[in-house]
Amino acid sequence: MQKRILANSVSLVVIGFFTLLVGSPVKAQSDLSGDWDVVVIGGGLMGSSAAWQLARSGQKVLLLEKQVAVYTQGSSFGEARISRSLGPPGDIWSYMHNRTVADARELIDMLQQHGESVDMNDIYSTSPVNYVRHESRLDSIAYLPEQHDRYELATTPEQARERFGLMLPHDAFIVREHKDYSGTINPSAVISLTHRATTLLGGRVAYGRHVSRLSRTSDGFELSIIDIASGRSEQLKVEKIVSAAGPYTGELLQEVAPEFDRLITPKRVFLAFFEVTPQFWEELSPPEQLGLRNLFPGINSTVPTRGAGSFSMIERFTDHGTPVIKIGGHFQRSDIQELDSIWQQSLSEAEIEWARASLVRHLSLLGIGLTADHLRLDSGYSCVYSLTTSEVPYVTNAPMADGRADPGLVVIGGLSGVGAKGSLAYGAIAADLILNRSDTDADYQAARQAFGFERMRRDSLAFQQ
Ligand SMILES: Cc1cc2nc3c(=O)[nH]c(=O)nc-3n(C[C@H](O)[C@H](O)[C@H](O)COP(=O)(O)OP(=O)(O)OC[C@H]3O[C@@H](n4cnc5c(N)ncnc54)[C@H](O)[C@@H]3O)c2cc1C
Repeated sequence: MQKRILANSVSLVVIGFFTLLVGSPVKAQSDLSGDWDVVVIGGGLMGSSAAWQLARSGQKVLLLEKQVAVYTQGSSFGEARISRSLGPPGDIWSYMHNRTVADARELIDMLQQHGESVDMNDIYSTSPVNYVRHESRLDSIAYLPEQHDRYELATTPEQARERFGLMLPHDAFIVREHKDYSGTINPSAVISLTHRATTLLGGRVAYGRHVSRLSRTSDGFELSIIDIASGRSEQLKVEKIVSAAGPYTGELLQEVAPEFDRLITPKRVFLAFFEVTPQFWEELSPPEQLGLRNLFPGINSTVPTRGAGSFSMIERFTDHGTPVIKIGGHFQRSDIQELDSIWQQSLSEAEIEWARASLVRHLSLLGIGLTADHLRLDSGYSCVYSLTTSEVPYVTNAPMADGRADPGLVVIGGLSGVGAKGSLAYGAIAADLILNRSDTDADYQAARQAFGFERMRRDSLAFQQ
């Protein structure tokens, strides 16, 4: 089933991009002029979400993305990110996830009304989400009985065997979250579908357009845009901008909001993909195979040092039906010397070994005798996180030279490892800021404040001291 969903998602994305390239106005128009209300820069998860949220609010939107149609490098690259909602009452991350699920439904409804054959399974794969942690973190789940999502908990090896059929170390505990659309979210599908919806609503998505300069004018902004295919450059004037350039945010805003260069730091992270060998997989009984599937996505911090924590999920199934598992570590990140070339950097032997050992540790919970020899390295690549000092993202008006908030420039940035599950909600907040509107919902307000202008100013002042 999951295989079918992933296969459908992949073909849907490919068809989506193909349609945009071949059948949309993108190719037919020779320049970008138009009566645009807002220009969104960056067509990753955040810019694509903001563009759609603005388009459905009646704005004429132009989305500029420097990559040439198929998204090959960026924080949003890939088919699976963990989506999960467990958190204490009032938790902003839960709110962002739940709001994204609700908005995804509206996106799917809208596309269906336009005759598109899409559904929520193109965006989400529902599966249990496993949090396996060292006992020293038990305090962090004291809130569990207070929240409404369904979960199961085992704090002893006996409970883990009885409830999940797992072999839990004596100094660890496991929480399993069960909820519709908790599991994984497919960034590639979200990007493709929001682009289609934006176009259907009269907006335009222009690929292969690099904004090489952004400057202020007396009544708005001027953009210098290079058409990557032709090398031709053009100027565009617009009153309102959403900046969603991910790790390139500092570079993009250097003239108009130079503080973001310090506020957001790109860091290299890596992902490794391992296939469970066909022979081992075929020898597992159906309940053992199901047990393995249910162990993903998994967040494993059974070894209580930051660098040892891992996240893993089934990225896809091969043609023989064997799972390909993706693993990475939020604290396996490193500094970047040259941002443009980081995507080509291969994994070191030490990184591959860290990934393999971490995955074996997670899979050892199954007690099925899986060793490193049963995992074949499929691939691996480097990618980039954009980090703020507190690791909490920004969705904020940019400051002007006099320190006041610029109503015409909204920045979404520093999304680190949390952005995907809340992607449509970050876009919604950015659209609200551009349109100077708000929502009375307390959780929305808390999220907006956490990501907002006052905090960004405090962070910025801290850098100056
Ligand atoms: C390894 C890894 C694992 C993750 N795991 C999870 C997870 O499990 N759950 C979760 O919720 N989140 C996860 N995330 C986080 C999530 O994927 C990111 O937060 C999100 O993808 C960030 O999207 P973005 O749009 O801000 O950035 P990007 O995807 O980088 O988009 C920025 C875009 O702007 C374009 N651009 C830049 N400069 C210009 C310019 N001058 N002109 C035109 N275009 C420009 C770039 O080409 C790019 O496409 C993970 C991230 C990584 C890297």
